Amino acid sequence: MEAALVEAGVLKQHLIDPEICIRCNTCEATCPVGAITHDDRNYVVRADICNGCMDCISPCPTGSIDN
Ligand code: SF4
Ligand code: SF4
Repeated sequence: MEAALVEAGVLKQHLIDPEICIRCNTCEATCPVGAITHDDRNYVVRADICNGCMDCISPCPTGSIDN
């Protein structure tokens, strides 16, 4: 089902803009299901774990997270 959604181009996923994100870790600490992770460069939302609860959107101090 997920593959089908990706193919159709309608998979809903939060995107974190690496140009705006200040790597404050607020989103990662906020996400109740651990869907937000980061490597040494960027914060990313794992679409396969994210449940779309939106809890991460308003706490982000820079508005980096789109939906
Ligand atoms: S919408 Fe909810 S589940 Fe998805 S990344 Fe944000 S806080 Fe986590
Ligand atoms: S809360 Fe916003 S600024 Fe902070 S790490 Fe997450 S996306 Fe980046």
